Amino acid sequence: MLFTTDWLDEFLTPMTGRNNQYEIYEVMTDSRKNANNALFIPLIGENFDAHTYLEQAVENGAVATIWDKGKPLPEKLDPSIAVYMVEDTLMTLQQIASKYRDQVNPKVIGITGSNGKTTTKDMVASIMKTTFMTHHTQGNFNNHIGLPLTILSMKRETEVLVLEMGMSQAGEIDTLTRIARPDYALITNIGESHIEYLGSREGIAKAKLEIENGLKTDGILLLDGDEPLLSFKHQHANVVTCGFEPGNEHVITSVHISHNKTDFEVDGQSYTIPLPGKHHAKNAALAMSVCGKLGVTQECIQKGLLDLEMTSMRFQLLEGKQDVAIINDAYNASATSMKAAIEVVKQMEGFKKKVLVLGDILELGDYAEELHRSVADAIEPPVDTVYTFGESANWISSELQNKGADIEIEHFTTKSALIEALQPYLNKETLILFKASRGLKFETMVEAIS
Ligand code: ATP
Ligand code: MG
Repeated sequence: MLFTTDWLDEFLTPMTGRNNQYEIYEVMTDSRKNANNALFIPLIGENFDAHTYLEQAVENGAVATIWDKGKPLPEKLDPSIAVYMVEDTLMTLQQIASKYRDQVNPKVIGITGSNGKTTTKDMVASIMKTTFMTHHTQGNFNNHIGLPLTILSMKRETEVLVLEMGMSQAGEIDTLTRIARPDYALITNIGESHIEYLGSREGIAKAKLEIENGLKTDGILLLDGDEPLLSFKHQHANVVTCGFEPGNEHVITSVHISHNKTDFEVDGQSYTIPLPGKHHAKNAALAMSVCGKLGVTQECIQKGLLDLEMTSMRFQLLEGKQDVAIINDAYNASATSMKAAIEVVKQMEGFKKKVLVLGDILELGDYAEELHRSVADAIEPPVDTVYTFGESANWISSELQNKGADIEIEHFTTKSALIEALQPYLNKETLILFKASRGLKFETMVEAIS
């Protein structure tokens, strides 16, 4: 059980005339799903209004519903259904989540940043699970709807709640952190994602730091300490920094990257994570630091990191049809994460040829040309071949051509031509990285050759 309608009655006004008291086991926003003793919260989207589906929700297990008071209730509604009239169903979802968070009162860890949120969230959850009853954001369910629904799907016994907080505009992290009120707030890095809406990297840093607005007064802020935009006076006195530079509280050294793992040391202690990339060592340092604060032992930290299950399409190493090693990083891209992925490809050992297949990075607005061109800075031998596809990715190719690097460079206007050009490379001595924003659907090319 999550809560009872009696508990809801304490802060929402029930419609008069109801005698039934219900135990609520689930909160549902999708009326098509089968549920058990659910509270239905109909949301209003751009193209749909879930108020239309109350009867379906009841058929599928709803026993109570939140209802926009500006809308008429269905005439034939079963009178035993508990109804709460509200101003705004989305705000009510957030309000119930916030109250439920307080009721359960787990240790809450909020994670934001331009890149690495999901990876770090998965790392923290994997480590915490060794020691605590842990609940965490599934996949990328990190927005103003996904975050409250994540809170409302935790069991009452939950001891640690790990929440990813995503954003594309200023003010969004503020909303999320005030709902979640984290005990620990992590900022993984500052990149350029959504710069179109935020104006500058300073603007992005400010938006991420909104996470402090909901952080408990005695809470701890954990930061990428190598990022100058995060290193000034904070609202909170308790700041912990992790990074490669010596001034950090937790310093990462001795990083060794192979095709399927990264070995590194934090404060002189050795760790291994089952994914390649220097940036992931930093994500791991933040993750282990917050877990250490809650008393998780070194042994459990290492075990949790090794058990990490990665969400698909994030730097996946696939074995292709013809033994070609493919890194599918087609889930999303920013200039920072694209450069980070290229660095990893350069560092990986055991391949004769290295090919980059790069596509557009979306949502960069006026910065699009500058940031696409900046990707070329990261490209140099041992990268042998760079193929680009998409309108903006052409800037990567042209900048690379200007640099005159000793690399085969070609821009394609169709995916089929690009796949054709890859054919000679499909052998076990080649490593191919696919990286672009989600909208470019690069996974179709990965499927075509794997
Ligand atoms: P989203 O905004 O889509 O939720 P996210 O912040 O959850 O993204 P991940 O899904 O963990 O990020 O990783 C996305 C990409 O960022 C991957 O390509 C990964 O290689 C890269 N990346 C992960 N961590 C870092 C980091 N600390 N610095 C730079 N790039 C990173
Ligand atoms: Mg994510």
